[in-house]
Amino acid sequence: MKEIDLLIVGQGIAGINLSYIAKKKGLTCMHIHQSSPGESTKVAAGLINPITGRRFVKSWNIDTILPFAIKHYKELEDEFNINFTDRLHILRTFQNVAEENAWLAKSADPFLKEFLLDRLAFDKSKFSNKLKTVDLMGELQNCHRIKLSTLQDSYLNKLKLDDELIDEWVKLDDLRFHENSITYKSLSFKNIVFAEGWRSIYNSLWSHIPFAPSKGELFLVSAPDLKLNAAFKNTMFITPLGKDLYWVGATYEWKNYDPFVGEKMKEKLFTMLNNTLLCPYEIKAHLSGIRPSSKDRRPIIGPHHKYPHVYIFNGMGTKGSSLSPYYAHVLIDFIQEGKGIPFEVSTKRYPPSS
Ligand SMILES: Cc1cc2nc3c(=O)[nH]c(=O)nc-3n(C[C@H](O)[C@H](O)[C@H](O)COP(=O)(O)OP(=O)(O)OC[C@H]3O[C@@H](n4cnc5c(N)ncnc54)[C@H](O)[C@@H]3O)c2cc1C
Repeated sequence: MKEIDLLIVGQGIAGINLSYIAKKKGLTCMHIHQSSPGESTKVAAGLINPITGRRFVKSWNIDTILPFAIKHYKELEDEFNINFTDRLHILRTFQNVAEENAWLAKSADPFLKEFLLDRLAFDKSKFSNKLKTVDLMGELQNCHRIKLSTLQDSYLNKLKLDDELIDEWVKLDDLRFHENSITYKSLSFKNIVFAEGWRSIYNSLWSHIPFAPSKGELFLVSAPDLKLNAAFKNTMFITPLGKDLYWVGATYEWKNYDPFVGEKMKEKLFTMLNNTLLCPYEIKAHLSGIRPSSKDRRPIIGPHHKYPHVYIFNGMGTKGSSLSPYYAHVLIDFIQEGKGIPFEVSTKRYPPSS
């Protein structure tokens, strides 16, 4: 039986980026993946927003992860000969003049200038009968959107063609863990990585890890009159998807692992839409997903404390598009060459209690 270097469980954006980087570095891979309710990659807007929070600071580690992600996705685009990245601006509303002043001060900061515009390029007057714009607004440039489900569809098709995909739901009982290998049915692997998204909460190998998944619901909305080509953020995002379609959301709910949509959040989304859009719109879909967040909002990557060839690649939370390419590379370097994993993202920060 020929041993394969890596078995990856789960092909959301985390598993996909891990697989691509592993193969690029010469590892042989097999993938087990089955679509399931609540999967995050299928419904995410895929935005990469480099400046966050009310204090307008750079997103965590953005200077390292953004250039890496851009290069990585460009490579994938070239390889698959499809476009799944967009560069776009993000418009955000301010709650008060103090916030606007803070923004203006930050826009002069040479380290932030790359992203923060000191004046609006967006022409508000063209939107006065379409969008409830406010006087106090700021604009970010050099933001990105990764069309995650387009990328996922292409990647899964390629794996299928290459005979590297098993479309099954793997349970722990189906796997055999040996000293230096793992077996699944008739296949033998040197290593296994679980990239199961929020469903890792049900995997007893990782029961000591404080996952903190958060459920999000959103609408896909058709609004032919809107003609907005930047993402607009007040309490939620309105993100253009092309062809007059917009991604609107999302809500946040913790400790709700029901992967399906509900009436409560539908109401919330309607309220937000009606408070924001002035032009006619039609709801095309109401979707939900569960973000694989961790308690400290950092990725969770690295080996299992008991089984050295068993790994996790998870905790991408709200930022799978930007975080997963770089940290996939960190994990593969660890598996292949024993290079270090920064403690702040490592499984080591969550030692089992006994
Ligand atoms: C509403 C919403 C909006 C978001 N917006 C953004 C955004 O704008 N920008 C951004 O960067 N991120 C965003 N995110 C977060 C982003 O979606 C996640 O960070 C990312 O998709 C996580 O990817 P993943 O591969 O870890 O998990 P998932 O996408 O959930 O993928 C895991 C996959 O593995 C499969 N699987 C799991 N266990 C098994 C098993 N045992 N056997 C077989 N298959 C299995 C699952 O069915 C699933 O398809 C958003 C998320 C939500 C919910």
